[in-house]
Amino acid sequence: MKTETSGGDTRHQGQEAEEVVYDGLGVGPGIAIGTVHLHDAGAVVVPEYRIAAGRVEAECKRFHHATEMAARQIAKLQRKAEALPTAAGEELGYLLDAYQQMLKGSRLVRGVERHIREERINAEAAVQQQINEIVQGFEAMEDEYLAARAQDIREVGRRLLRHLTKTPYQPFSLLPRSSIILAEELTPADTALLDPAQVAGFATVLGGAQSHTAIMARSLGLPAVISVGGLIRGARHGDLAVIDGMAGKVILRPRPETLALYRQLRANFLRQRRTLTRLRSLPAITRDGARVSLQANMELPSEVEAILMSGAEGVGLLRSEFMFMNRDTVPDEEEQYAILRDVVERLEGRSITIRTLDAGSDKMAPALGIAPGANPALGLRAIRLSLSRPELLEIQLSAILRAGAHGPVRILLPMVATVHEIRYVRSLLDRVVRRLTRQGVRISDPLPPLGVMIEVPGAALAADSLALYADFFAIGTNDLTQYTLAIDRADEAVAHLYDPLHPAVLRLIQFATEAALRARIPVSLCGEIAGDPRFTALLLGLGIRDLSMAAHSIPRVKQRIRSLDLLAATRRARVVMDQSDSARIAQLIDDFNGQR
Ligand code: PEP
Ligand code: MG
Repeated sequence: MKTETSGGDTRHQGQEAEEVVYDGLGVGPGIAIGTVHLHDAGAVVVPEYRIAAGRVEAECKRFHHATEMAARQIAKLQRKAEALPTAAGEELGYLLDAYQQMLKGSRLVRGVERHIREERINAEAAVQQQINEIVQGFEAMEDEYLAARAQDIREVGRRLLRHLTKTPYQPFSLLPRSSIILAEELTPADTALLDPAQVAGFATVLGGAQSHTAIMARSLGLPAVISVGGLIRGARHGDLAVIDGMAGKVILRPRPETLALYRQLRANFLRQRRTLTRLRSLPAITRDGARVSLQANMELPSEVEAILMSGAEGVGLLRSEFMFMNRDTVPDEEEQYAILRDVVERLEGRSITIRTLDAGSDKMAPALGIAPGANPALGLRAIRLSLSRPELLEIQLSAILRAGAHGPVRILLPMVATVHEIRYVRSLLDRVVRRLTRQGVRISDPLPPLGVMIEVPGAALAADSLALYADFFAIGTNDLTQYTLAIDRADEAVAHLYDPLHPAVLRLIQFATEAALRARIPVSLCGEIAGDPRFTALLLGLGIRDLSMAAHSIPRVKQRIRSLDLLAATRRARVVMDQSDSARIAQLIDDFNGQR
């Protein structure tokens, strides 16, 4: 956690400096106090190049895709604006309506297309050129109203350029220490660039609590609040701000007494965390002697230190997407091997479960050149994407097998739905093993177990069949909840409906766990509920003995395990599984948790 900077609102001469409190969804732990950095205001570097005649149509298509993405993002902001108090919401609503109009067959869109076709230049250069032309025209008229419209056009152009270049808005590396980032939206790739040594916390207007951006915040231990309506319009660069990641509050320009209160709360939080780290070397064992394995989820190699400090037994889920983010090219086998080997070695003999690429949906990897379909969460993502490009999967399998020569690894496949997918991967794995053996390259010995994520309802219901082909299961409740309840985990508009305690989700967890136990294969749970002590008794009661979570959550979950009685938890889980209403289930587990 950072120390706060001095100063604050006094530097805004002539402006009001009142405290404003915003509510949102708290997703990252702790409290941050620091200086506002408005992330969306940055300029985008615009690449300029000529394109071949044969590429013109594809370039126009790329441009139209960017307009669709921008329109989708603005539509989300419009929904947020509707929820704001009338005057502010209306004003913002008009502005966003105007942006939407500009994205539909306007002079801007027509002009860009013309530049691409006639001058054969790339879409980014065409957007830049067209904006300059329109804005110059407006400015020449010296009219205040038109000057404001010129600003709007620039803003829409910036949005298009950001979608086209897919670059993060600004390099975070240039931020001063204790920065608080406020943004409309941060993608998981943007979040991966945040350095906790510089950034104290962040808040965004868009995003759901189970989005990968939220998960990344928890992994980095960054206090964060998302889905905060009206946030950006109320904030100014350099404002003093507080992010309360636990209560889901953002306080801009806090009054002295508010600041004092949050300093106190932050000191309490840090003290509590220090107390918890003392649990590091103690086993995760219930009062009646049941042992539980606690492992860490890992998003970035920079987390190894925190993972070792947390007392994790190993890494239960390495999300390998980071290797493909924030770059234009796919990493080759040598690069992937070097990264994985380094992580494996730094874990000093602890096991690591490496998941193959889970790109698609909210984790877009520009290097792969996949255009999201109408329903990206149901489209070409995860194992489906890998199996549609087997040459990429073979490279990844090869890199994992080689890294496995330096420490114990397991291979995990995301979003598996059929036994055919496992069989296909096994055939590729056999081929890669044969090739590496022929070439005399050192690989894992014995070969790594090959497991599957249980995160599609169909996979959970067919878990007994999948268990015949998989060496282990990892239950992914983030996607399992999303797909079972048909709730987009990254969409703030339905975030309040996202409910892992829904009986349907719990039955699928129970069914898959029991199938694994009957087949005598290991089963772990690595969705976000694994790291929430509220769920611990229930999950243990359902038969789970292996939990994988953000490293920062391990001490609190361990504390909960050490305080509970497995027999009582199992009895309570039985009662829970007889319920039909998730509100009643929530009450039953909260009552149980309260009986300590
Ligand atoms: C899950 O879906 O629960 C999971 C662990 O995978 P991810 O969050 O990366 O989709
Ligand atoms: Mg998942």
